[in-house]
Amino acid sequence: MKPKLSSTTSVVKISDSVLEFFKTNTREQVRIKVDDDTIMNIVLSLDGSKELNTISEENGIQYDSLVSLINFLDNKGVLDHVDPKSDFDSYTSFRRVIHFLSDFSGSHDELLAMWDKLENSTVLIVGLGAVGSWVACNLVQSGVKNLILMDGDTVDITNLHRQFGYSEGDVGLKKADVLEKRLKEYVADINVMKSYDFLDDGTLSQFDEYDIDLIINCADKPTVDMTSLWIGEYGMKRSIPHIVGGGYNLHLSLIGQTVIPNKTACVKCFQMQLEEQNKIDPKRVKKLAVKNRKVGSFGPMCSMIASMVGMEAIKVLSGCTVPANINRRGEFDIYSMDITYHEFLRRDDCEWCGKKGRFIDS
Ligand SMILES: [Zn+2]
Repeated sequence: MKPKLSSTTSVVKISDSVLEFFKTNTREQVRIKVDDDTIMNIVLSLDGSKELNTISEENGIQYDSLVSLINFLDNKGVLDHVDPKSDFDSYTSFRRVIHFLSDFSGSHDELLAMWDKLENSTVLIVGLGAVGSWVACNLVQSGVKNLILMDGDTVDITNLHRQFGYSEGDVGLKKADVLEKRLKEYVADINVMKSYDFLDDGTLSQFDEYDIDLIINCADKPTVDMTSLWIGEYGMKRSIPHIVGGGYNLHLSLIGQTVIPNKTACVKCFQMQLEEQNKIDPKRVKKLAVKNRKVGSFGPMCSMIASMVGMEAIKVLSGCTVPANINRRGEFDIYSMDITYHEFLRRDDCEWCGKKGRFIDS
């Protein structure tokens, strides 16, 4: 073992006896008191180049004491768990993603497990438009290797200003085909399965035989509410986590919820509560239920929502931390750049996940 201070942690010598570690990814500060110069020098020199016994001999410290020190630092989360020479086949291409995940892991093995889950997961993206196309790009750039892309649409000239991956030469071609080609230009070694169907009540059954780790709803036809219900029901039936990708309405963008079946509020729980709130105050939480909307939109808005979805997806797939958008959904105001979150509860009377729900764990 060659211990190394985490590459995403800054180390500052506050005084002769205090060292401060600042974890840049999680913004966590850790201070340790070091009374001994030898220990201070050892800690500051951990660059991954020396084995424990070499450090022990060079610094005149007992091996057992050194192991205790290294374990202490490891428990404080300031050592790097990335060992690029072993285990990580994709280290060269994805080292920044792996380093990002390393701040959420307690050990090399845990980091390896997170990366393995992320890399080998299969994500179904339904709808390859303004949000779905960017989400697919986010996931492939983050190391996800298996995608199922579902969209019956062809590329239209009016898509190019806000959707990822489509160019003038692609107009008239199937979005799923074009996006697959573009994504493979980023990472050649990905597996893409395509479906040219539009989402409706029954089309998801074609994936019954596939192991799917996450479904992302980026489809807004006929309405986001309808597609969310179809995907929510399928996800609950098969116990597959799902994310309502969001959408936009005038100057507000909806940041949709993340559903972990039978652990968080489901799409039906959200629907019940939205209906109750809309009865009291129809303006309080806006529903995106307008058919054939042609409202104004532009790339930054779509890619921003897609980035939020991508972040949630990486949390769900890697297990690095708890997803943020469980039991809530947000509205992003383009003008003020404020995000307002509305909380939702998992309901005992939910017909899907409540006490007598259809999809409750038996
Ligand atoms: Zn429910």
